[in-house]
Amino acid sequence: MIWNEEFETLPREALEALQLKRLKNLVERVYTAVPYYHKKMDEAGVKPADIKSLADLVKLPFTTKEDLRLNYPFGLFAVPFETVVRIHASSGTTGKPTVVGYTKNDIESWAELMARTLSAGGAHKGDVVHNAYGYGLFTGGLGAHYGAERLGAAVIPISGGNSKRQIMIMQDFGSTVLLCTPSYALNLADVMKEMRVDPKTLKLRVGLFGAEPWSENMRQEIEARLNIMAIDIFGLSEVMGPGVASECIEEKHGLHVFEDFFIPEIIDPETGLPVPPGEQGELVFTTLTKEAFPVIRYRTKDISRLITEPCSCGRTFYRMQRITGRTDDMLIIRGVNVFPSQIEHVLMSIEGVEPHYQIIVDRQASLDVMEVQVEVSESIFSDEIKVLEKLGKKIEREIKDLLGVSCKVKLVEPKTIQRSEGKAKRVIDNRKL
Ligand code: ADP
Ligand code: ZN
Repeated sequence: MIWNEEFETLPREALEALQLKRLKNLVERVYTAVPYYHKKMDEAGVKPADIKSLADLVKLPFTTKEDLRLNYPFGLFAVPFETVVRIHASSGTTGKPTVVGYTKNDIESWAELMARTLSAGGAHKGDVVHNAYGYGLFTGGLGAHYGAERLGAAVIPISGGNSKRQIMIMQDFGSTVLLCTPSYALNLADVMKEMRVDPKTLKLRVGLFGAEPWSENMRQEIEARLNIMAIDIFGLSEVMGPGVASECIEEKHGLHVFEDFFIPEIIDPETGLPVPPGEQGELVFTTLTKEAFPVIRYRTKDISRLITEPCSCGRTFYRMQRITGRTDDMLIIRGVNVFPSQIEHVLMSIEGVEPHYQIIVDRQASLDVMEVQVEVSESIFSDEIKVLEKLGKKIEREIKDLLGVSCKVKLVEPKTIQRSEGKAKRVIDNRKL
C-alpha cells in the first residue's frame, strides 16, 4: 500500500519542481539563520540567489560530521531554541556525540516518513507493531514509534533486549510486524529455538530491519528462520533518523528515497564530484523540509548507487541500492556506531597501555561481539595476574561508559600485535554478513 499516493507517485517533473522550491527556501533559511552555513557559503562564493535550478545544488559546500563536531551541541540549529521539542544524538568520531534537534513540524514529517516506510513494507492499520529498536537518544525507537502510531497500528514500545520476554509478548499480544536491527532479528530466532517456540505459531508477517549493514543472504536466513518477509529500511540521525529510504514489498530491490523530503546525490569520495548516473559512490543528502536541524549536502560515508528505473510498485522516487560499505572505518556493533578512534581515545588515557591495539569483531549466536587486544608495558605484564585483571576490567568499563557497548579486553605482551608497514590494521571483522 502507498501511504501518501499524492506525493509518492508524483510525476518526476512535478517532483523536481517541488524539490527546487523547497531547496531555494532551505538555502535562504540556513543562510540567514545559521552563521556557520553563512560563512561556509560566503567562502565558497555562493549566495542563495545562485540556486536557480536543481543542478545548482553542486555549488553548495558539503556538510560533514566534522562540521557537526565543531558546532557541538546546538550550533547548527536553524530555529530559536524555544521551538525545539526533541533532541536526539548518535556517536561522533571522538568523545562527543552528534546532536540533532526537531521542531513540532519536524516530528510530524518524521511520523509521515515512517508511516510511509511501514506502509511500503506492507504494514497497515490494525497491525500489532513490535518495536524492538532502542528507545532513548538513538533515533530508531521513537522514530519508528511515531510512524506506527500515525499508521494507526497498535505499537508495543518494547525496545531492545530481554529476548525471552520479547518472544513471550509476541505470543501473547499477537505481534504482526517486527522492527529491529537485522542481527537482533537473528538473535530472536536463536532464542525462539532455545525456547522451542515455532515461528509458524506466531502471527508475525513482516519485519522492517535497518540501522546496520546486512546482505541478501542474511535476508534469506531471517525470512526462513522467522517465517516472515524481511524489508530493508535506511536512515541516519543527521538526516532525520529512520525513514529516509525504504524498500517496497513489491520488489524488495533497492530502497525508495523519500525525495520530496530529501535530495540524494552520489559522489566520488575522493574528488567530491558527482559520479555518472547509476555508478557507485558516497551517498550525500540534503534535507528539504527540516526546520530545527537542516543539512545541506551531508556526506554519509555510506556507499551506494542510485537506481532510476521506474518501479512496479508505482512510486516515482528513485531507489538507492542497499548499502554495500563505508568510506571510513566506522563499525556498527549491535546497532551502535563505533569508531576505532573512540577506542583508541580510551586506551591512550590509561597508564601502562601501549599504543598497539587491535579490535576483533565476530558474531556469536547472531550477536556481535567485540574484543579489544592491547599491549601493556613489560612491567605491568610481569605483574600479578590480579593487577592485569583489574586493568582489563577498568578498560572494559571505560569503553562501555563512552560507547555504550560492552567488549572484552585482552591484555597482551609487548610486541605481540603485528606491526604494519603502512596503514595499521586496527580492525579484524570476522562477521559474515
Ligand atoms: P540510526 O539512528 O538511523 O541508526 P545513526 O546515525 O545511529 O542512525 O546511524 C546511521 C548509519 O547506520 C548510517 O549512516 C549507515 O551507515 C547505517 N545504516 C542505517 N540503516 C542501514 C541499512 N539499512 N543498511 C546499512 N546500513 C545502515
Ligand atoms: Zn517500489
